[in-house]
Amino acid sequence: MGSKRSAGDARSPVRYMSIVAQDPSVTWRGRILMAKVPIPAEDVIPGPMGYRVQVVDYDSTRQYFHGSHTLPASYEDEPKAWQRGDPAIVKDFQFHAQNVYALVMKTLARFEFALGRRLGWSFDNHQLKIAPHGMFDANAFYSPVEEGLVFGYFKGLSGGPVFTALSHDVVVHETTHALLDALRERYMMPSNPDQAAFHEGFSDVIALLSVFALPEVVGHLLAPPTGKRNSARTIARKDIEPDALQKSALFGLADQMGNELDGLRGSALRRSAELVPNPKILDDPEFAEAHRRGEVFVAAVMQAFIAAWSKRIKETGLENQTAFPLASIVEEGADIADALATLWIRALDYMPPVHLTFQDALTAALTSDTQVRPDDQRFKLRHYLKEQFAAYGITPVAAEQPAQADCWAHAPENLRYDRVRFESMRSDKDEVFRFLWENRDALELQPDAYAKVTSVRPCLRTGIDGFVLRETVAEYYQVARLTPPELAERNISPPREFLAHVKGLKAEPDDDDFVTAVYGGGVLIFDEYGRLKYHVHNKIFGSQQKARLKYLWEAGLLTVRIESAAYRQARLSTLHRMRAIDARKFPLEGW
Ligand SMILES: [Zn+2]
Repeated sequence: MGSKRSAGDARSPVRYMSIVAQDPSVTWRGRILMAKVPIPAEDVIPGPMGYRVQVVDYDSTRQYFHGSHTLPASYEDEPKAWQRGDPAIVKDFQFHAQNVYALVMKTLARFEFALGRRLGWSFDNHQLKIAPHGMFDANAFYSPVEEGLVFGYFKGLSGGPVFTALSHDVVVHETTHALLDALRERYMMPSNPDQAAFHEGFSDVIALLSVFALPEVVGHLLAPPTGKRNSARTIARKDIEPDALQKSALFGLADQMGNELDGLRGSALRRSAELVPNPKILDDPEFAEAHRRGEVFVAAVMQAFIAAWSKRIKETGLENQTAFPLASIVEEGADIADALATLWIRALDYMPPVHLTFQDALTAALTSDTQVRPDDQRFKLRHYLKEQFAAYGITPVAAEQPAQADCWAHAPENLRYDRVRFESMRSDKDEVFRFLWENRDALELQPDAYAKVTSVRPCLRTGIDGFVLRETVAEYYQVARLTPPELAERNISPPREFLAHVKGLKAEPDDDDFVTAVYGGGVLIFDEYGRLKYHVHNKIFGSQQKARLKYLWEAGLLTVRIESAAYRQARLSTLHRMRAIDARKFPLEGW
């Protein structure tokens, strides 16, 4: 390494830190496999605490504060034990603090790069709290209420302590939950089986691709180090076929995650790697459960990764080449993992804010990727995603315009722009609301449901080839709280058993109403000239609502609430009047 001190150099936008490449069970010759990763440079004070993250090393089980940790000022200042992966770092809490800090910041930076804008947390604070030894439990979780991530530790099978804060994929998985929650707060609410599964599946996908984006890990899985330099080593052609790569890379990682973390992570990866493609798999009752269902999403994405990788390696060589250099295989694998993670994060902006299905997610991924990476020739990611999702019965939502196959339909042509100001529409919610209001018929908004624009964000996205795309993404939702007869009028009849249940509750039929909330909403994607490109939405009184109510009832999640008759008039009044009386006054479940 050079003598340049990255942290002390105010001009350098990045600095480097050592992290555990996967988890302490992935070792070589008695040492833990480590990685050196770039993260955004910033002033870090003891905690460590920076502008987006605060490590609070408090153990709530033992009710003990381990104190503030001071991180080394630069990569060169790190203890050599950290860079070598000495087993002693498993008990070095200062290193644990660096490991979680680096992985959370790296994941945040990955999201901000992909989305082309700054990203907040779901709560009203700049810093996410991280407890690296938060509880004595074989678990880790994201808590929006506690505004943070809590990592547990437990006694492993070998008798020694196991720290989830040292597991790359666990840390990235929980950070992804937090970032996804900030972007799509409704995805944590009950809606349909896919939406709950998506939170888990998406967090797993970003975590696994984050691990595979490290050349250190890929190289280790394909061919454990021998002392020879990677550039001098090769892999046989038969070992780069998709089946072989799946065994060496996916199963290899699942195995290496080791028994210690088995209940937590390893077996989840193994289970999704083992899912045999079957277009009817999502109809199987076993896959109605959110985690199981999420594994189908993981399987489809990871199979696409393997297929794209295998194809790419072969393309880099000659047709009859029998062996391929390990160094380039590793580099291509890490590049494809990185590109695929970026593609999926970008897709979030193109997903409806409510009632997401796997079909929606795939369509959003194909559409947003077409926008920023029109040419798919190099990795063929869209091709392989389509192919692998179809193998699990997931196909893009059929677009109305055949020319736009696999992508969302373009926004309608007949929109009015003359009453809105483009400059304001890039940041002003009221201006975007006016645009919605002026175009409510063309955009199929229901005027008798409450509507609100929740965010407006200008973005600047950069493709891998330097291609730059400017977009503005605005998000809105609609909500209506309707009595059973009002639902029926809109063709959203709740399940019969539910109606009987409501009837049983009703003592004074004239006094109060029992209402059920239905939600709709959409995202508006504007181009750099302020024209609407895409309107991705779920109609509040759309056909999916009936199925949604049935699912919620069967899951025991469909609730009614008593609403005073005094609110009745207001509840059914027009959108305009709802705003006038401030719909937030309703003491109802919040958006
Ligand atoms: Zn999770």
